[in-house]
Amino acid sequence: MFDVIVIGGGVVGGTILRELTKYKLSVCLLEKENDVCMGQSKANSGIVHAGFDAAPDTLKAKFNVLGNMMMPAYTAELGVKFVNNGSLVVAFSEGEMQTLAQLKERGEKNGVSDMEIIDQEQLRALEPNISEEAMGALHAKTGGIVCPYGLTIAAIGNAMDNGAKLYTDFEVGAIDKNGAVFTVRSTKGETVEGKLVINCAGLASGKIAAMVGDNDIEVKARKGEYILLDRESGDFVSHTLFFTPTEKGKGILVTQTADRNILLGPTSEEMEVASTDTTASGLAFVIEKVRKMTKNAPLFNTITSFAGVRAYSSRHDFIIEESKRTAGVIHCAGIESPGLTSAPAIAKYVVEELVGNIVKLERNESFNGRRKADHYFKDLSNEEKNEIIKNDPSYGRIVCRCEQITEGEIVRAVRENPPAKNVDAVKRRTRAGMGRCQGGFCQPHVAEIIARELGIPFEQVTKNGEGSALVTGVSK
Ligand SMILES: Cc1cc2nc3c(=O)[nH]c(=O)nc-3n(C[C@H](O)[C@H](O)[C@H](O)COP(=O)(O)OP(=O)(O)OC[C@H]3O[C@@H](n4cnc5c(N)ncnc54)[C@H](O)[C@@H]3O)c2cc1C
Repeated sequence: MFDVIVIGGGVVGGTILRELTKYKLSVCLLEKENDVCMGQSKANSGIVHAGFDAAPDTLKAKFNVLGNMMMPAYTAELGVKFVNNGSLVVAFSEGEMQTLAQLKERGEKNGVSDMEIIDQEQLRALEPNISEEAMGALHAKTGGIVCPYGLTIAAIGNAMDNGAKLYTDFEVGAIDKNGAVFTVRSTKGETVEGKLVINCAGLASGKIAAMVGDNDIEVKARKGEYILLDRESGDFVSHTLFFTPTEKGKGILVTQTADRNILLGPTSEEMEVASTDTTASGLAFVIEKVRKMTKNAPLFNTITSFAGVRAYSSRHDFIIEESKRTAGVIHCAGIESPGLTSAPAIAKYVVEELVGNIVKLERNESFNGRRKADHYFKDLSNEEKNEIIKNDPSYGRIVCRCEQITEGEIVRAVRENPPAKNVDAVKRRTRAGMGRCQGGFCQPHVAEIIARELGIPFEQVTKNGEGSALVTGVSK
């Protein structure tokens, strides 16, 4: 029996799991997919928002600003890439220049520091590839970029290193309560028992809430399509460039990623049935907007397109509360943007205030929050590389040529918490397959290493879990 069961291995569930391990509690995470970080936390813009977007006095505003402040130390402790690149909300008319002043005022109310409205000349000096039509911008110096899967995986891995247990391929299908004990049942019939349940199931958080009688939490899906450019284009922009928001939202952005790709998007499309397909019209819209925002966009360096699905609540704010009908359940539902930025602050609040309200929290003196830095072997000096290869020759064998990822790094991803069990899981941890050829060369080699490490036949290695076999059988 666990003290706390967390449902959903995204950035919210992951950071809460880690926060829980700071106390003397036995905790577990239930994730329906074959790996963690398979929902919104996998496919988003990776922006650590400054905090001027959300309406004052909302949970979004509060946790955005707190999360932004926490992010540099939080990512440093976990060894996750974070860059404080600053953001620019760009205006293209006098009317939009006035909106920037309102945004700045809203940001100040929310507690955002270091904002400045800059003119065309200052904007050009910061971003030489900005459109000739751009008139000025709101420069928010506290804006940043983070690797979203790096953060989620590191938080969950660190929680596991501190004793948390992870169950993957566990899709919660029912929750029963007998006395003070919850029995959480998977759709395949496995059960896990616990004293508290925290619902962090993203798009399914409304469904999980309904399992404990809270039928008033409605979570809907909105798709966002992206285009990703090769790292060769990494210097095209350095800040995150936003359009001035309208009633319809923030619009598309142009940004560097924490790994120095260029990311363009996302669109915003309501959906009845969640889907991560990209569409010709969605990508054409992104390109049209990128050409309005910038000049000389190196679109010839496109390496892939993808889509993420936002889980937004009908309350238009984060839903972070105890269940109204079942004592011992906490919901973190409809956590859309800025949920990635907010996650460390949400986790602290949920554990200290909500869990702490139900059980007595006692510090776990042996908690170690540090994790080995998420550096890539190729970024080391020749001396450092030689030293590592001397101890482990697998670091001398390059598997992914585009990203220069070694066999040693892939083996580490399979062995380390949370273990990578499929090809995409290795990709999210190491970047093998994230380069120009998108795994065309390295995928079979990565699969061979996974098969060897897990002691399973090659044919059983999947791309991303059940139903995604790489080969159908052995022919010779
Ligand atoms: C297109 C897009 C762009 C965004 N850009 C930004 C940004 O730039 N900055 C920012 O701060 N935020 C951004 N966000 C928001 C941010 O990504 C989310 O707020 C955050 O990832 C939410 O995390 P989560 O853990 O709540 O949900 P998720 O990451 O969706 O995790 C939920 C998990 O629950 C699992 N699950 C579902 N059902 C079950 C079940 N029955 N049993 C067990 N497990 C289950 C899922 O598989 C999933 O792993 C963006 C989101 C999108 C979609």
